[in-house]
Amino acid sequence: MRNDNLWVTIDTLGATLRRLRVRDGDGWCDLALCCPEDGYMGRTVGRFANRLSGGRFEIDGTTYQLSVNEPPNTLHGGEHGFSSQEWEVVSAAADEVALRLLSPDGDQGFPGRLDAAAVFSLGANALTVSYAATCDAPTIVNLTLHPYFNMGLTPDIDDLIMFVQAPEYTPTFSDGIPTGDVSPVDGTGLDFTTPRRLGEARAAMIAQHRDRHGRMDHNFVVPGDGVREMVRLIGGGHTLSVFSDAPHVMIYDGAAFDGTLTGLGGKPIGPHAGVAVEPQSMPDAPNQPGFDDTVLRPGQIWSRTISYMAS
Ligand code: BGC
Repeated sequence: MRNDNLWVTIDTLGATLRRLRVRDGDGWCDLALCCPEDGYMGRTVGRFANRLSGGRFEIDGTTYQLSVNEPPNTLHGGEHGFSSQEWEVVSAAADEVALRLLSPDGDQGFPGRLDAAAVFSLGANALTVSYAATCDAPTIVNLTLHPYFNMGLTPDIDDLIMFVQAPEYTPTFSDGIPTGDVSPVDGTGLDFTTPRRLGEARAAMIAQHRDRHGRMDHNFVVPGDGVREMVRLIGGGHTLSVFSDAPHVMIYDGAAFDGTLTGLGGKPIGPHAGVAVEPQSMPDAPNQPGFDDTVLRPGQIWSRTISYMAS
């Protein structure tokens, strides 16, 4: 889908945002990394984004064991989560593509059949993805989109300026499972409440031992509800604002990329080649008292909107 300012490519495999290009003089600038071989890059992750501790959770007194793909935990919905499933095209117009995935009862261990939709709409300056889901038995849902943004910068995003509307974050154990605490970002390398260079913030975060194996891979607690700006990225002469009605946003700095995969122009995707910005409910929420309620019951409609406004 393309207009004067934006040009996006959507793939049915994983309901993926394959490319996000913004007008750049007479040409276009890719704002996100593109590598179809990466199992999560740009893809819709679900049924439950991020980690579920022990690969299980409980609803109404019944415990469900899920597909475990990061032992002993489940990451991004299991071995064959929504990101690796083929979504069906429901409709395709010049400025809107609607995709659907019917996830059967027991898919990756999740209870209930889930009927999920992902609608990608192109506006004058923004791409919006609207998710919706219904079920026929109680289940949990937490879908998000997993693009890695580099704003056209290579080989890394150290000079990218990031602004995150989050005064708090949720610390994790070394395996990425939240400790259950909510901590202030004030005075830490995770304080992006004023715009900050990613390379400098990462160095501070590591010096303070707030990294996870050298990574910035943290869930930021964004106050308020409804669609609001969560994250702004500035770099390469462009600005990208991520808006969402999700409760929180996960930010991962791509530290684990090792150059094995190649992206646009055959360039290797090395450490910190892009930053993943993923509006979502709190990681492991079903297993953490006091975290978001992520249970969906028959008769309810789960929904989530994410918009990428670019200039
Ligand atoms: C997670 C990272 C994980 C990555 C995989 C991110 O959403 O926070 O821990 O390595 O996804 O692509």
